[in-house]
Amino acid sequence: MIPAWAQAAYLVAAICFILALKGLSSPRTARGGNLLGVAGALLAVVVTFLVADVANLGWIIAAVVVGAVPGVVIARRVVMTAMPQLVALFNGVGGAAAALVGLLEVAGTNVRGDLAAIAFTILVGAVSFSGSAVTFAKLQEIITTRPVLFPGGQYAAAVVLTAGVVLAGAVVFSGSSALAATLAGVGLVFGVLLVLPVGGADVPVVISLLNAFTGLAVAAGGYVLDNTLLLVAGTLVGASGTILTRLMAQAMGRSVPAILFGAFRAGSTAGAAGAAGTRPVRSAGPEDVAILLGYAHKVVIVPGYGLAVAQAQHTVHELAEVLQERGVAVSYAIHPVAGRMPGHMNVLLAEANVPYEQLHEMEVANPELRAADVALVVGANDVVNPAARTSPGSPIYGMPILDVDQAKAVVFLKRSMRPGFAGIENELLHDPRTTLLFGDAKESLMKLIAAVKNL
Ligand code: NDP
Repeated sequence: MIPAWAQAAYLVAAICFILALKGLSSPRTARGGNLLGVAGALLAVVVTFLVADVANLGWIIAAVVVGAVPGVVIARRVVMTAMPQLVALFNGVGGAAAALVGLLEVAGTNVRGDLAAIAFTILVGAVSFSGSAVTFAKLQEIITTRPVLFPGGQYAAAVVLTAGVVLAGAVVFSGSSALAATLAGVGLVFGVLLVLPVGGADVPVVISLLNAFTGLAVAAGGYVLDNTLLLVAGTLVGASGTILTRLMAQAMGRSVPAILFGAFRAGSTAGAAGAAGTRPVRSAGPEDVAILLGYAHKVVIVPGYGLAVAQAQHTVHELAEVLQERGVAVSYAIHPVAGRMPGHMNVLLAEANVPYEQLHEMEVANPELRAADVALVVGANDVVNPAARTSPGSPIYGMPILDVDQAKAVVFLKRSMRPGFAGIENELLHDPRTTLLFGDAKESLMKLIAAVKNL
């Protein structure tokens, strides 16, 4: 029985988690929200050590060190663009931990309700672990980011899922540890089959979905262990992961089932031929682009993944200031899935102290783009690709995009004709109103700053 003071401390921790989520919903309060979440987690861990009848303390501390040391090192070293992989990795570990708790609890349990929660924890935790591992491999480009399809794939997935559900039922009625271990194996296979066919731009939605799965597995684990805080924390992760999944799917104009099962019908963002072909494009030097920008009334900057790669957030801010000093109105158009994680552009630009009021979401930015003299696309591609609007056959068809093609002139800063994450060609690069300034975004921006100053 957990004493009342510890329950009260758990309640405080749960409130910290809820306030942390609230804080994380805005860039202004995100840092505070994060710290509050850490404080809640720390409180929960300390209280658990104090109230639990802890045997094997040495082993537990060793396990904490084995987890914490690489965790801290990796988290400190990771570059911003690799954050989704890291989230996938940590999420997978969470799923595995929940599944292991389930496996350990089977032997001592004979209550059907508890066994049902255990079977759920094992199955969902295992799916989350292997699914996250495949997502990690895709994002890290250890395996291809394109959908991996094989004949009969959808039937194989359906059979494995059915086997999982049947085995879960068998675990509930038998309480057998051997069947529980088999259930974990089946969950692992299903996780792989679930994620392999998802490709290209849909991967971020899957990370978020697997995050929700881990939350649900942890919540069920909380029920099994009779730990209210684990139940609350897992439910919060499950709920917020589900909401984020829906928001991201909406931002990409797709439904979650279409993302998961579309690829089985070759409908996920498979990507067309990667090469841009030999059609002409208009490229120019920094001096010519500086004239376009320096004599414009209104410039809308569209940042994307390339801005993050080049770490050009400070430089783009500097260019915006130089333009503003000349009387040019400058704003930034932020697409919800620009970059490689939700809020990526907001985080980068906030780091460079770009005023929040200049960052405009799609609903505000699109009318502005129609009135803009120049849309300056800095390392973005998929999020401005008009194929999403005009080509029903395109894998990104239906994804709401920033209407860069509606501006009077478009400038792309990129290094080559290579496509973006979804692997599809962008017709806008060949549009007569488009100018390309080839090179690393940071270097190009520095040249532009110098050239605008010389006008
Ligand atoms: P894209 O991946 O579509 O395009 C990035 C562009 O940046 C490319 O054209 C690339 O061209 C250019 N680039 C790369 N490095 C540099 C550099 N150093 N200097 C200049 N340019 C550079 O990015 P978007 O932001 O437009 O779209 C994001 C994509 O990522 C979407 O498909 C989204 O679904 C997906 N995604 C989003 C996640 C999220 O949560 N936000 C997570 C995971 C994926 P070149 O190589 O020629 O320079």
